[in-house]
Amino acid sequence: MRVFIGLGANLGDAAATLNAAVAALAALPLTSLTARSKTYRSAPIDAHGPDYLNAVAELETALSPVALLSELQGIEQAHGRERAYRNAPRTLDLDLLLYGDQVIATPELTVPHARMHERAFVLLPLQELAPDLQIPMRGKLADLLAAACDQRIAVSA
Ligand code: ADP
Ligand code: MG
Repeated sequence: MRVFIGLGANLGDAAATLNAAVAALAALPLTSLTARSKTYRSAPIDAHGPDYLNAVAELETALSPVALLSELQGIEQAHGRERAYRNAPRTLDLDLLLYGDQVIATPELTVPHARMHERAFVLLPLQELAPDLQIPMRGKLADLLAAACDQRIAVSA
């Protein structure tokens, strides 16, 4: 299955955290890393704190969606993520953005990720990897990105 993971970090050495997280994704069972976007810098949305660094990774995996989510949470915890409050700054956030073209709606898992279609920090790195992508239920990536063009984001130096 072709899968996209969104990565974000805004505490500590965020660039190093993203690199370590990508390495951890590449090491998951039944999984290979097929692509990784550049690293982007974005302003926090609905939140305070330093800018985020963001990236998207593309995986080929035989893990189920729930098994993959559990692995993502394990990697987050290994990086000392604390959930102090909603949208609190975090050392590492890993989101399951897309699992093939499947639509999943369970209490613990919503795919496509519920807010990805309105977030430039997801859409721009995703476009780098898959410019012609269609997001299930949401439409063309390029159209979604055009609607999010007011959000500040740039390739990280
Ligand atoms: P956000 O990523 O929107 O800032 P959190 O990472 O704090 O929020 O949310 C984590 C929770 O979201 C987890 O408890 C997880 O069960 C749930 N969740 C639902 N869908 C997804 C998804 N597609 N990817 C990651 N977490 C998800
Ligand atoms: Mg998350």
